[in-house]
Amino acid sequence: MYPLGNPTCLFCKIVDKQIPSKTIYEDEQAIAFFDVNPKAPLHLLIIPRKHIVSLAEMKEADQPTISHLFGIAIALAEKQGVSQAGFRTVINTGADGGQTVFHLHLHLMAGRPFSWPPG
Ligand code: 5GP
Ligand code: ZN
Repeated sequence: MYPLGNPTCLFCKIVDKQIPSKTIYEDEQAIAFFDVNPKAPLHLLIIPRKHIVSLAEMKEADQPTISHLFGIAIALAEKQGVSQAGFRTVINTGADGGQTVFHLHLHLMAGRPFSWPPG
C-alpha cells in the first residue's frame, strides 16, 4: 500500500482505489478519472501515481511526468471527440493558483467555450 504515496492524500487514495473514482485511463505511471464536481461537460483529471505535491515542489527528475500527463490528455481529448472543437488544460499550483488538492493533477475540460483570462 502507498508505495509512492502519502496516506493522507485524497488522490493517493484514488490511485490506491481506497476511494472510488470513475477511471477512464490507467498506465504504470498515471491514471485519469472524471472530476467529481465537473466544471465542463467533460472534465477529467490526469495524475501521476507518484505523490508529487505540485509543479512548484517537483524535482527535476520528475519533470518528464509533465510531458506524460499532457500526452495522455491529448490522446483522451482525441478519444472523447473534443480535439476539433477544442479543450482547456490547466494545472493549478499553490494557493494563489487555485490548487485545492495537493497531488499534482492536470485538468482536461471540454464541451463548452472557455473564456480568457480565467478568473
Ligand atoms: P484543484 O482545485 O486542486 O486544481 O482541483 C482539484 C479537483 O479535484 C477539483 O476540480 C475537484 O472537483 C476534484 N476533486 C476533489 N475531490 C475529488 C474526489 O474525491 N474525486 C474526484 N473524482 N475529484 C475530486
Ligand atoms: Zn498524493
